[in-house]
Amino acid sequence: MRYKRSSELFRQASRVLPGGVNSPVRAFKSVGGTPVFVREAAGSRFTDEDGNEYIDFIASWGPLLFGHAFPPVVEAVTRRAQKGTSFGMPTALETEVAELAVSMVPGIEKIRFVNSGTEACMSVIRLARGYTGREKIIKFAGCYHGHADAFLIEAGSGAVTFGSPNSPGVTQGTARDTLLARYNDLESVKGLFEANPGEVAAVILEPVAGNMGCIPPEPGFLEGIRQLCTDSGALLIFDEVMTGFRLAAGGAQEALGISADLVAFGKVIGGGLPVGAFGGPAEIMSHLAPEGPVYQAGTLSGNPLAMGAGLAMLRAIEADPEVFSRLESKTAYLHEGLEHVLQEAGHPYRINRFGSMISVHFSDREVRDFESAATGNNDRFRNYFHGMLNRGVYLPPSAFESYFLNDALTAEDLDLAIDAAAGALKD
Ligand code: PLP
Repeated sequence: MRYKRSSELFRQASRVLPGGVNSPVRAFKSVGGTPVFVREAAGSRFTDEDGNEYIDFIASWGPLLFGHAFPPVVEAVTRRAQKGTSFGMPTALETEVAELAVSMVPGIEKIRFVNSGTEACMSVIRLARGYTGREKIIKFAGCYHGHADAFLIEAGSGAVTFGSPNSPGVTQGTARDTLLARYNDLESVKGLFEANPGEVAAVILEPVAGNMGCIPPEPGFLEGIRQLCTDSGALLIFDEVMTGFRLAAGGAQEALGISADLVAFGKVIGGGLPVGAFGGPAEIMSHLAPEGPVYQAGTLSGNPLAMGAGLAMLRAIEADPEVFSRLESKTAYLHEGLEHVLQEAGHPYRINRFGSMISVHFSDREVRDFESAATGNNDRFRNYFHGMLNRGVYLPPSAFESYFLNDALTAEDLDLAIDAAAGALKD
């Protein structure tokens, strides 16, 4: 009865939407049951169509750094909408967001706005190939860079949840140009460079992985890749769709002190509206059309509502740089609380955390790559997930996803979540 209206809505949706959803992980496939349909949200919480309230630990999968219906974003979008929703012509607003983003992120002189993280990643790869004149890319098993063909090779999170990391529809030719390395294993990257001399255009990775649960880079891993790229003339691309403007104003580059050649963004940069972006030094970015020959375009790119939301979000971060340490403290508090209740429960587990990204792996070994992430006990995860859901705590509905904390979460929210975890684990 608790999910009666959501169940009805899911049945209705399934008649007209494949799987009842517009993005697979929303369908609860790996945890079972009926996805909850959201009615509305504010701050740290949302309410479903049955009137149940939840403390939200996904924040729309990351974008909502300050929580739901953040007033500056709502105000900006409302104001912009009254002046026209799309023009397909340049606006001063786009330059304003670009100037602010460029000032916040190390190494970026120019930025191109697109409409999603997928678009950002697929476009930045095209740019890297066009710039270097090489065709192969190295990606890491378990890293997700959106659903473009070149990335659906051992793609982590959503793709893994459905047991089809190599999606039908991706051609052999495309798959051949994507070389697979192992996260936190520098030797695997070295081996690929040695086997493909002068052919690698770029290495793309999540500098802190979030699509096999949270997996931080081990000391020396990113530094080693940086060196291999520099030595071989390949570009290092950080996919900061999750980490950008979340781990620090300058993203993982700032948080970890490592420089990438190109960076892809999504999520936070759009403040909850559909925005992606990629950026880098002017010398590389000048290869993009219309300045250069690498084609990339978009009817709705730089859309005024999306840019208004992005500007409000970036300004809020700029005005409140303490947000990152607050998020870190909240996540550390949750970490400590979960550690305590998991120890009491006596199940094997590992908690991985970096900044405001955290995940619980029900595994008996160190979780440091895709293979070890896959050793988690999914039955236990499923029970934990539903135990939390029934207690009004919304976690990512897949063991291969990270939680994203937001600044609207209160001490009371965190205590309630820790108590809920104790109850869920006891059950
Ligand atoms: N890159 C990373 C690291 C992601 O986590 C995601 C989505 O979760 C993407 C790219 C794709 O972004 P989008 O879903 O906006 O297309």
